[in-house]
Amino acid sequence: MPTDENLQKKGMTLASKCNLCNSSEEDSNHLFLHCSFAKASWSWVQDTFSIRLNTQFVHSILLQCSIQSKNQLKEVLSPCVLHTIATIWYCRNQSKFEGKQIPLREAISKIKTEMTMVGNCSHATSNSCSVFDLLVLRNLKVPLKLNKAPRIIEVLWQKPQDGWIKVNIDGAAKGSPGLSGAGGIFRNCHGNCVACFASFIDIQHAIYAGSLQLSKRLTGLIVMLGTTYGLSVTQQRLWISSKVKLCPLGKSAAFGIVVNTC
Ligand SMILES: [Zn+2]
Repeated sequence: MPTDENLQKKGMTLASKCNLCNSSEEDSNHLFLHCSFAKASWSWVQDTFSIRLNTQFVHSILLQCSIQSKNQLKEVLSPCVLHTIATIWYCRNQSKFEGKQIPLREAISKIKTEMTMVGNCSHATSNSCSVFDLLVLRNLKVPLKLNKAPRIIEVLWQKPQDGWIKVNIDGAAKGSPGLSGAGGIFRNCHGNCVACFASFIDIQHAIYAGSLQLSKRLTGLIVMLGTTYGLSVTQQRLWISSKVKLCPLGKSAAFGIVVNTC
């Protein structure tokens, strides 16, 4: 930022003065941290969020508040720090170039207005918020966002028609990416299991676990059904039921196939 200190470093000759307190030269540390105006601003942030910030360095404040969280109040804290810095700079510029001294009360009101806009755009929720969180959010005029109540949907498994084999498949990953596995179960028109498989597929994303690997393995397994289990699957039709869209199967599966994503 073009503070007096930085302009002097670039060779500009000027008399430096902090326009917010008129009692010191202007450098970044003074302007944003040690000036009485900055101290009062950070004091307001700390009191509002009931936290203790390390105000020795700007980057330490940013680090302290950059922890990502799904909690609505914590998600508001990080932009509040940024808006406090921006507001100090705004007040400095108003004083230096417009001759307008903005009182601290007005500066804090500006930060709160910005926070209200940020809070309205945030997707974080406050399901586990405390009374303190609620009061702070209300003070910043940030509407409380609660998780929607879970919707329970009844899903019934349907037997395939006579002459069909239905296979239910799925994959999952513990993390993204993470250790993953996939499995499936083949059932006939009576609902009886005729074959099944489960396999570890290394470290993958859940989508990969659920689709690509399964598609490849299905091709081999369909052929295997006809040999290992003595089933004449080539005379039958296959109903693949999965939560994800599948890649096309190979030539081995050249018989009637229905793929759905139920
Ligand atoms: Zn100052």
